[in-house]
Amino acid sequence: MRIDIISIFPEYFAPLDVSLIGKARERGTLDVRLHQLRDWANDVHRTVDDTPYGGGPGMVMKPEPWGAAIDSLLADGSPRMVVPTPSGRPFTQELAQELAAEEWLLFCCGRYEGIDSRVMAEYGSRLRVDEVSIGDYVLAGGEVAVLVMAEAIGRLLPGVLGNACSVVDDSFAPGAMQNLLEGPVFTKPPVWRSHEVPPVLMSGNHGKVARWRRDEALRRTLSVRPELLASLDPATLDKHDRRLLDELSFRVGSEDVAN
Ligand code: SAM
Repeated sequence: MRIDIISIFPEYFAPLDVSLIGKARERGTLDVRLHQLRDWANDVHRTVDDTPYGGGPGMVMKPEPWGAAIDSLLADGSPRMVVPTPSGRPFTQELAQELAAEEWLLFCCGRYEGIDSRVMAEYGSRLRVDEVSIGDYVLAGGEVAVLVMAEAIGRLLPGVLGNACSVVDDSFAPGAMQNLLEGPVFTKPPVWRSHEVPPVLMSGNHGKVARWRRDEALRRTLSVRPELLASLDPATLDKHDRRLLDELSFRVGSEDVAN
């Protein structure tokens, strides 16, 4: 996969040199190219922002440098463009999977009050453009949001994770874990500061271990993200799931969480 990132702070992306993503880049699974937006500004101060039309506080990123920067990349083809913004659609594991299937992504990092909206309108008529939010809070710029998305997407690329099964068991993973959070995990020693590892995990009984993990995933989801359970497809629940949720006073197929 090729990822291009346009930003006024390309140095923000040093973390993409390390760990899994760094190794994927070394192997050539991931080709990350960083671009300084100011290289496309056309005044001596390399200005990329101006005051907002309609007044108000802050500055808005000018369309001309963005247009010139993006046009220069489009000489190579048509990437899918992703623009981080708190007013975008939520970034989810499902969207990470979808983006991981693309051959080429272009991330455009806003700063100040964001990018002049005509940039998204201009390229939206030529490319697939997604405005995406990583959460209901406001960052100072799109760089950290792009780091989050690049890591979530990069770890899904074939060969990036040592064990591809990890992805299947992750919280939110499509399939059995859709809308569920992963339960607690443990490693050696079996007792640490008098805290014991649940005996079932050391039983060697794979069926019981799988059932325990599933129960813990349901319990944790109900405890911290009940709204996820409420929107779970009831068809994904087996009779053990239903019995456990019944014990926990959660009514399947109802938005009424009585726990
Ligand atoms: N005035 C904007 C608003 O209220 O929607 C916030 C602009 S924010 C200070 C500057 C930049 O940070 C945005 O253009 C975007 O690139 C990035 N950003 C901030 N919060 C974000 C979030 N939750 N998800 C994705 N990007 C975010």
